Amino acid sequence: AAMVKETIRVYARVKPLGRQQQAGIYSVDDNEKSLSSLEIIVPRDLADGFVNNKRESYKFKFQKIFDQEAKQDVVFDSIAKPVAECVLAGYNGTVFAYGQTGSGKTFTITGGAERYSDRGIIPRTLSYIFDQLQKDSSKVYTTHVSYLEIYNECGYDLLDPRHEASRLEDLPKVTIMEDPDQNIHLKNLSLQQATNEEEALNLLFLGDTNRMIAETPMNQASTRSHCIFTIHISSKEPGSATVQHSKLHLVDLAGSERVAKTGVGGHLLTEAKYINLSLHYLEQVIIALAEKKRSHIPYRNSMMTSVLRDSLGGNCLTTMIATLSIDKRNIDESIVTCRFAQRVALIKNEAVLNEEIDPRLMIVQLKKEIQELKDELALVTGKQRTSELSQEELLQLDVLLETFLEDNDPDSTLDVGADMRKIKYCFIHVKQLMNHSKISDKKLLSQYIPEEKETNKETGEELKKLKELLQQRDNEINILVNMLKKEKKKAQDALFQLNAASACSTVFEQSPSINLEESQSPSSCFSLKEAKDFSSSVHRLPFLSRKTGGKMSLGCQEAFEVFKQDHADSITIEDNKQLLKQKFAEAKCLGEKLNEVRIKINHLKGEITQRHVQRAALAVSSPSEELNTLDPVEEKLRTQIEEEKKSYKAMFNRMKGLKVEIEHLQLLIEKVKMKLQKDFEVWWSEETINLQQEKPEMVSSPNTMTVYPQFIKSSQHLSTNSFSDTTRVSPNEDPAGKNNSITSSNPTLKTRTPPSSSTSIPLTGDSQADADILAFIKARQNILQKKG
Ligand code: ADP
Ligand code: MG
Repeated sequence: AAMVKETIRVYARVKPLGRQQQAGIYSVDDNEKSLSSLEIIVPRDLADGFVNNKRESYKFKFQKIFDQEAKQDVVFDSIAKPVAECVLAGYNGTVFAYGQTGSGKTFTITGGAERYSDRGIIPRTLSYIFDQLQKDSSKVYTTHVSYLEIYNECGYDLLDPRHEASRLEDLPKVTIMEDPDQNIHLKNLSLQQATNEEEALNLLFLGDTNRMIAETPMNQASTRSHCIFTIHISSKEPGSATVQHSKLHLVDLAGSERVAKTGVGGHLLTEAKYINLSLHYLEQVIIALAEKKRSHIPYRNSMMTSVLRDSLGGNCLTTMIATLSIDKRNIDESIVTCRFAQRVALIKNEAVLNEEIDPRLMIVQLKKEIQELKDELALVTGKQRTSELSQEELLQLDVLLETFLEDNDPDSTLDVGADMRKIKYCFIHVKQLMNHSKISDKKLLSQYIPEEKETNKETGEELKKLKELLQQRDNEINILVNMLKKEKKKAQDALFQLNAASACSTVFEQSPSINLEESQSPSSCFSLKEAKDFSSSVHRLPFLSRKTGGKMSLGCQEAFEVFKQDHADSITIEDNKQLLKQKFAEAKCLGEKLNEVRIKINHLKGEITQRHVQRAALAVSSPSEELNTLDPVEEKLRTQIEEEKKSYKAMFNRMKGLKVEIEHLQLLIEKVKMKLQKDFEVWWSEETINLQQEKPEMVSSPNTMTVYPQFIKSSQHLSTNSFSDTTRVSPNEDPAGKNNSITSSNPTLKTRTPPSSSTSIPLTGDSQADADILAFIKARQNILQKKG
């Protein structure tokens, strides 16, 4: 019970500086025995954001401060492990990361997506807990996990299997229910059973992926939302009827950055407001918890505080990590974060009266008050009040109201007396009458609408759809052309440089074209191999199929191939794949060794059996021999077996660790692939929007259609092969337009023959690339034909 009396433990972690960042001035005084302190210095001459009367030095106390070099395992050991131990002992626990966006909350809670050693508190905690549970055979344990995201005060189940098929907004919302004992229950949040580490990790990964996919540039979920990963443990002693429940919340909070109300520098620290209102409510709860005399804790103000209600005060161990980004630009936000942390550190769990006003008592009080008021009213009016009007009174009112409504005299009034019930009744009645007359008006109108319009609407909609599809294809073509131009320019630049280099070099006598080929070959090899890997994962990606209605268009795929070549994540994937290969090899080797040892043990066992048979035979042939004595040979065999078993066990444990590592690596690779896909999707849509803004006449006006015959004409010489099917549509070859299904069927095309000088789509000159563009044009023509 001693640990329940603790204050909330507050730690700080300083994120390593980025390459472009300038360090702010701070120092860490790490005290092993008591609290550590962090000092942040704000220079007086720092013009923006601070005025001269500000304090120069700020000092904050923390349980421990993890400076830039601190590694994930150390952070886990000192922050999360004690909480996990507590949860295993039956208490509730919470670890939450608080800090501005980009300060390392997700890195600390979940981990980095690149290296196995970067895995964060959640995977390490899972590993630790399952290890401990396995060791303890005195109880029967059941473990579940849940993963909740709170965005805009709405809760979403990140483990909902429907997630892949739908957007966040379409999922059933998680809502808070309170039972008569004021316990919180979350409706629509699934508890998924996880019997081992692997299952739990898969669930974590599933949730993270769902979170990432739901995020769009419009909905920056990771900045604005809170994520709560919860491990639920229940334990039971065999034969006992009582079950112990405990849960561990691992919380990645929304970014804590604030916006200045006025933007005037000097007020930044005092007059600031949260971007996220629910963080403000969290702070209010924390302040209330810290004030010993407060009996009302405002948990109900936000979903976040309701969910964490039984885990912030009371029977639990709560730990906070303040994540800090100590570069110059973020000094003020870091100070705000530290201040919040200092308030959190004041909360003493045992000092808190963890309760809200009992609603049942409130109801009793209110009922009493109503009765008193009723009595008073009866005294004044001389009539006893009931809540309902009598049938007779209602009829009377109807008559009164009707007379009033039908009376054409503008001076006529309706007097029902000083009785709110009657006044309300009249208003409702009038409202009903009005609504009724509106509806009948509409009905009248609709009778005059000719039926023909219905069918018109349908074809109109189809036309609209086709137009949209057409425009989408147009956009794709334009993006592709832009990319190809860039690629071509790159190649040309390279060629130019090489030419220049070989021109001045007297050493290399090789021709420049060979040089170029060599310099390009590694990247093209890589892309070919990668393309296969990626295409296999594309099918499983819900967001891509969502966008394009089943499959990625050819242009989109092509663009993706080029996009990922330049993307840093491709290198990460490759690195991790190498590592994975290594681990696989290691595992294979270990597996072989395990097998050898197993065979050896079996062999030794066989020898012992043989020995038994020999001794039994000996006993029969010469019974005088003392058979009860131990057989030294057998003893030796047994110790040998024991030793082999020991090494088997050690190797087996290594294998187990390796397995977890391999699985984690696989998940990481998958995750980075997903991210790459997502980045591409964002880029692709941005590119589309840019195009629409830059050249509106190319992509959105009806004139677009005039572009293509012109384009085809100018590109014929480039690739006649892939073009042969479509040449007949060129106005050039078929000037009469007899066989031309497009020009003859489309009035727009026919009447607007483009002037020959304008060419809207430039070609790349690369025959392969141009062939691809032409494939689009063909697709586009199909649409046009359909439309006609
Ligand atoms: P937040 O979740 O607070 O918005 P992130 O955890 O996403 O911030 O961190 C931002 C970036 O900084 C990420 O690319 C992350 O990998 C990196 N990062 C954060 N903390 C560390 C750290 N301790 N060591 C290395 N990289 C870090
Ligand atoms: Mg984050």
